[in-house]
Parts: sequence; structure tokens; C-alpha cells
Amino acid sequence: MSFDLQIGPEHLKPALLAALASVSMLTALFAYLNCYTRRRYFQIWMVAWLFYAFWLTLTYHVQDQPAPFALMVRNWAVGISAIFLSWGSLIFMGQKVSQRMLRLLILFLVAWSYVGTYHLDNPWHAQVPIFTILGVSNLLAARGFFIYRMRKEFAGATLLCAGFTLWGLFLIAYPFAERTPDLAATIFVVAAMLQLFIAVSMIILVLEEARRLRRTALDKAATERAARRGMEDRVRSTEARYRQLFEQASDAIVVTSRQGFEILELNRHARQLLGVTGELSPGTLLDSFLRRTAAPRAKSDTQSLDCALPGAPMNIVSRDGRTSAVAVERSAIEIGGEPAYQFVLKELTERFQLEQQIRQAEKLSALGQMISGVAHELNNPLAIIKGRLDLVLDRDDLPPGLRNDLEKVAREGNRAAKLVGNFLSFARETPPEHTSVQLNALVESVVELRHFDSLVAQSTIKLDLAPALPPIKADADQVQQVLANLISNSLHAILAVGRPGQIVIRTRSTGTLTTLRIEDNGPGVPVDFQSKIFEPFFTTKETGAGTGLGLSIAHGIMCEHGGRILYSASELGGAAFTLEFPRAAAVVVSRPTTSTETTVFRKESFVTEHGRVLVLDDEEALAEMVGEALGQYGHDVVIAFTPLQALEHLRLERFDVIVSDFRMPTLNGRDFHAEVRLIDSALASRIIFLTGDTVSEDTREFFDSVGNPRLAKPFQLDAVARAVNEMLLRAAA
Ligand code: ADP
Repeated sequence: MSFDLQIGPEHLKPALLAALASVSMLTALFAYLNCYTRRRYFQIWMVAWLFYAFWLTLTYHVQDQPAPFALMVRNWAVGISAIFLSWGSLIFMGQKVSQRMLRLLILFLVAWSYVGTYHLDNPWHAQVPIFTILGVSNLLAARGFFIYRMRKEFAGATLLCAGFTLWGLFLIAYPFAERTPDLAATIFVVAAMLQLFIAVSMIILVLEEARRLRRTALDKAATERAARRGMEDRVRSTEARYRQLFEQASDAIVVTSRQGFEILELNRHARQLLGVTGELSPGTLLDSFLRRTAAPRAKSDTQSLDCALPGAPMNIVSRDGRTSAVAVERSAIEIGGEPAYQFVLKELTERFQLEQQIRQAEKLSALGQMISGVAHELNNPLAIIKGRLDLVLDRDDLPPGLRNDLEKVAREGNRAAKLVGNFLSFARETPPEHTSVQLNALVESVVELRHFDSLVAQSTIKLDLAPALPPIKADADQVQQVLANLISNSLHAILAVGRPGQIVIRTRSTGTLTTLRIEDNGPGVPVDFQSKIFEPFFTTKETGAGTGLGLSIAHGIMCEHGGRILYSASELGGAAFTLEFPRAAAVVVSRPTTSTETTVFRKESFVTEHGRVLVLDDEEALAEMVGEALGQYGHDVVIAFTPLQALEHLRLERFDVIVSDFRMPTLNGRDFHAEVRLIDSALASRIIFLTGDTVSEDTREFFDSVGNPRLAKPFQLDAVARAVNEMLLRAAA
């Protein structure tokens, strides 16, 4: 059995038509692919197939005795087809194609077609190079699909590689086969089959590519979906974390709008601070929680969110009426693209109080230094004024009117001396003289003194004193000063409200404490000022009416006594101050309570002894005054203004007692004592020191070790005389 595949020349035209049909299909396919994929090489290949179809059409029409022009156009058409096919293949392989080269090639083909047709003896010669180019370009396309196949596993690419290879080889062989007229029909049938094969392969490849693209797109979409889900999870967990941090922050955080500070969000702490329980009604402003107050004279208190400095203290009043001091920090943020503010409100209560205490301590220390300096400077002139007055008042020839006036001056002098003493006590330089004090008696005496003032203020002072109140260990003068100040403050506060006043003073004794509570029905202390009233110089009284020192001195005095002073609101509607004294462990010397109405000097009958007294003070007026007073008591007095002068006298003469200043520029009291001891050790123990009230730690140690008596300036002259008398008695003994 044999197969005869040859198709007779009589079938040439149908064979050509078949080839033309398959090329048309191929062109249409490439045109479609071009629209579908928008790839440039499909467009170029489509043009190539168009020119090839043109060549086939010409071949179909001009088979017998073709005119030379038709032959030229045929050659030119197939040549252009070859060039476009190569061009498309190179682009398919991703190679750059020079446009100039293409134009030259087309020009060459035009010339070659012309030369081949008109000037070559055998037009067949012209076809060989053209078909060779056409074949090679198809082989190039085949190579491109081979490379493509290596990169991507597409069956279509394998098929196309095979199709273009066969087609390339076919085209190279074409001019030779054409010369055998018997083969002509077979050639075009083969051509049609090869073109169909290429078309089908192309469809397969495109389908495969589309499927791959779809899968890639689906995979990408799935990956993106997963990534988005992951992102959403992350955003959710970040949001939850932020919420948790926001909610559980130890500070109160409030988010507000930039305009008008409308509250947008609050954390748990902020809700507690502002006393917000349910939902806040829209439009609630943070401002509405700020307490606005009139600034006291001593401080300015800016309660405005707009002008608050970072960390500025502010007072927040919660919905349930609680007031809290907070430090406010503001930062600009964005919420959902909208500008906003985040306020962090740090509660100050503890920190603030600590700072207050430190400030208070610093102020007190600076103030103490200043006051003690001033008080010391005042002491000597005061001592001289007092002493001189005492001496004048001691004269018997004074007219009664003048005596009366001078006694008033003396009383005021005593008051000034007491004030200086209190200042020194505030400056912690005079240790309080703790004796056993009957608090109830003290209260009664102060109230009695204030009787007139209470009448002026249309107030009654009611006493509720615990019977059998145990005595306290205290400095009576200082406690009296505290009490007087508290009563004055109450009366002043009552006067301000202009209605009949009521003051109640209550004393009580509990297990370890003795308390004194004084309350009034005045306006009370506003919440904002309650932490400030014990500060030195804090006052709300008009200029001249208050110094702002009363309560800080009271605070200092109570501390000295190991007790404290507390403020609270009174049931009477005004202020209540409680003094707490620790119960006296052992009661020392009992001393009668004194008042500012101190006695005026009178030469008393206590002077029993007379002796030689050396008076030493670098303040000449003071030395002379003391000398003169002691002279009036019948002592033989020598005055020295410097320690050296005094030592000189001591070496030459005999003295029974020395009255000496302690703080002197050349030799202080301690050194002077040592020098005297070298001369006469018994006399050294009979030096009476006049101290400026500054009893520093080592000076106090000195006095404790030597046991010499000392008198604090400003002293009363009879006290000096009394001390001299005691020394003389000791010497006699
Ligand atoms: P000063 O009396 O010189 O002002 P204080 O230290 O004694 O100084 O008092 C400080 C401030 O405390 C007063 O200015 C007043 O505002 C307030 N204060 C004290 N006592 C009372 C009171 N009983 N009622 C109302 N406010 C008071």
C-alpha cells in the first residue's frame, strides 16, 4: 500500500485559495489578539500576514505569463511581509529594533524587486533572497517562542516554536519548490496547513496566558485580601491597645475640639475626675469644669485653657462638686483627619502639696534670716529706750501727766519688744520657754483682752472650755499670740460679712492631745485658698490691714510645740482652726500667764546686796544705761566699752559681778569668759551675759556647760538688777 500525497497542478487554485483562507484567518486572529492584548508584535505580525495574503492573491491572479510589474509587486509584497515578520519577532523577544535599519531594508526590497524583475534574466533569482529573509524571520520568531517556552511552561509556545520553525524552513525552500510546477498545488496546501497550525497554536497560547493571568490575578487578589485582613487585624489590635492605654492611663486624658474645647473623648480617670457617669451631652465644653476665681493679691491664678502655660495648675470642679488641683498639658492631635487637642490632667494634690511644703520651707528660711537680722538691729535701741524710760520713771519728781504719758510710751515699748521677740521666735532663734500652761486660763485672758474688739464687730465670743483640762507644756506668750491672732482673723472675717458674729472657742482633751478649736460664722476660707493661708505673706485683706504673717507664725509656733494647726470648715458656716498640743509628759516650772500689758519698772525691795559691778557692752549707750541703773541700786559700777578695756580693769581691780554683752566685735562672750577665768575663775562664773537673743547651737552648748545666767535683749532693768543681786548673794554664800 502506497500513499500519494502529491496534489496535482490542476488543484493549484483551490490550494492557493485554501492558503489564502488560512492566512486571512491568521490575520484576523492577530488583529483580534492585538485588540485583546494590546501587544505591539501582534499588530506587526498582522501587517506581515496581510502582505503575505496580498502576495498569495497576486500569485493566484498572475500565474500564466505574469506581467513584469505584477512580478515586481509580488516580490515586494512578500519582501515587506518578511521584514514585518522579523520586526515582530525581534520585538517579541524583547530586542530593540532600529527604525532606520527597517527603512533601509524596505528601500532595499523596493530596489531589489525592481532590479530582480526588470534587470535579472531569471526573476527566480530575485525571489531566493527575499524568501530566505522571510524564512529566517520566521525562524527568529520560532526562537523567540522557544525562549518564551523556557521561561513559562506554555504548550502553545512549544507548538508555535515548532510551527514557525516549519514555516520558516518552508519559506526558505519555497523558491526551489516553486520551480517544480507539479509541486505548486501541494506547496500551497502545506502552506495552508502550516498557517492553520500556527493559528491554532496561537489561540492555545493566548488561552493559556489568559488562564495564567487570571490565576495570577486571583492569587494576587487572595494575597491582597489576606494582607488586608492582617492589616485590619493589626489596626484593630492597635486600636484596642490604644484604647486600653487611653482608658487605663494613670492621668486623666480629655480629647477636645480645637475650637471652643468641646469634649470629644474622656478616659476612665477623666470621668472620675470630672464626675461624669453617663454619656456627656454633645457640646459639653472642658471650660465648664474649670473653677474661675478672683486672684488673691499674693498670687495670680490663670484659669483659662487658652493661656494656660504647660503644667500650669488649675482647679477642676467635678459634676458632684469636688475640687481638684491639676497640672494641665495640652498637645495638638488629629482625630479622623480633624484637628483636636489632647489634654492630660495630672492630679496635683500630692505633688502639689510636697512642692508647697518645699516652697513654704524655703520662704520661711529666707524670711527667718531677714526677720532675725532686722530684729537684732532693733534689739539694742529697744533695750536702751526701755531702760532709759525705766530710769526716768523711777524718778520721784515727775509731774503726774508726764508720768502717765511716759508709762504709755513704756507699754508700747514693751509691745515692740514682744513683737521683736515673736519675730525671733518665727525665725526659730528663740527656743520657746516651755512651762506648764493652763490653756483654759490663757483663753480666758486673751478673750478678755479682745472684749472691746468683739463689741466693735458686734460679735459674741462663746467659751466651751473642758473642765479639769490638764496643763500643756508650752510657751504661754507664743500660744497667747496664736490665739490673739486667730480671734482677730475671725473678727475681721465677721466684719466683712456685716452681720452679728459668733465665735466659739472650745478646749478638749483626748487621749494624747489637748485641742483648742476656734470657729466663727464668717465667710470661711474659699477652697482655693485653703492650701495657701499658712504661707507667709498670703493675705486677702486690703493693703495695710493684713501682713499675711499671722497664720504662718501660728503654724511655726505650733510646730515648735510639737503640735499643729489645722483648718476646716465650721458648722457655724465660717472658718474653724484647730490647735493640737501634745499632752505634757512632765510639767516643769509653773509660770503665771502674762499679757502684753507688762509691768513698768519700779525700784523694788529685792535689792539686799551691794557690790562692785563691771558693765561691758560695745553699744556705749546701753552700757551707760545699765551702769546708771545699777548705780541707782547702790552698786559701785565701772563701765567698759571693749573686752580689752574690761580685762584691763579686771587685772587692776577687784569686782564682785560682771554684766557683759555676748556678741562683741573683738572678743565674743565665750572668749571673754575664758580670759576672765584666767584672771579670777570664781568671778568668771559670776558674769551675767546680755544676749541678742540669737542662741545658736554652740552658744547654747556654751551656756549649758558654764551655767552662767543670761538675759535676752531687750531686757528690763530690774531684771538685770535682780540677777546682779542673785550673783552677789551667791558670792557671799
Ligand atoms: P492676715 O490676717 O495678715 O491676712 P493671716 O496669715 O493671719 O494673715 O491670714 C491669712 C489669710 O487667711 C487671711 O488674709 C484670710 O484670707 C484668711 N483667713 C484667716 N482666718 C480667717 C477666718 N477666720 N475666716 C476667713 N478667712 C480667714
